[in-house]
Amino acid sequence: MTPFQDASQIRENWQRVTERIERAATRSGRIKDEITLVAVSKKQGIDKIIQAVEAGARVLGENYVQEAREKILALRNYPIEWHLIGHLQSNKVRLAVSLFTLIHTVDSLHLARLVDQRAQVEGKIQSVLIQVNVAGEASKSGVLPQEAIDLAKGVSQLPHLSLDGLMTIPPEVDDPEKARPYFAKLREVRDGIERELGLSLRHLSMGMSHDFEVAIEEGATIVRVGSAIFGPRG
Ligand SMILES: *Cc1c(COP(=O)(O)O)cnc(C)c1O
Repeated sequence: MTPFQDASQIRENWQRVTERIERAATRSGRIKDEITLVAVSKKQGIDKIIQAVEAGARVLGENYVQEAREKILALRNYPIEWHLIGHLQSNKVRLAVSLFTLIHTVDSLHLARLVDQRAQVEGKIQSVLIQVNVAGEASKSGVLPQEAIDLAKGVSQLPHLSLDGLMTIPPEVDDPEKARPYFAKLREVRDGIERELGLSLRHLSMGMSHDFEVAIEEGATIVRVGSAIFGPRG
């Protein structure tokens, strides 16, 4: 990808990504409005984020709470919301609850309880997703698929949390088609939780720049796209 100084490049990227989302949705008998595009702005500067917002981005995703805080403050007058898509450390819970509308990365009951306590203090219901390590990779956060039901049960009982669904980051593969079984796995885990616990989990957060179309075909309702919008990270 060429480096781009140009605001028109981000606009063009944004339009291309949204068109691809629409086509993938149509192909799988869905409508584009069912899918939220999270523009992943980690390690991108404020100027580029503003360009994305001006092109149409309404939800931004950040991995690091501290980095996000500065951006959120700088962009407080824009009509946007922020999602936390990176691992959440317990000592950042307080800040995270004050900054993010959706936390994608709850992966233990301990963490969920801390978020719940903080949400109570803030007088807020915090929306969360459970991160599932679909392939059981040692290097990744998230609960194993077979642990997801128990965690979902615990999280769903916490009064200041709203459990809205599941999130995954599949193993890195060269061909997006190879990610398909992992996306399908997340959907199956979701369906199992809904069936066993009688919960309704509307969100599947899955799919990044190189594989979001396959994720949509497998049921993603949230895709997290960084480099395809912003170019390489600085
Ligand atoms: C960085 C990141 C993304 C975006 O990755 P791209 O390949 O740049 O689209 C999505 N999700 C998570 C959890 C990330 O850390």
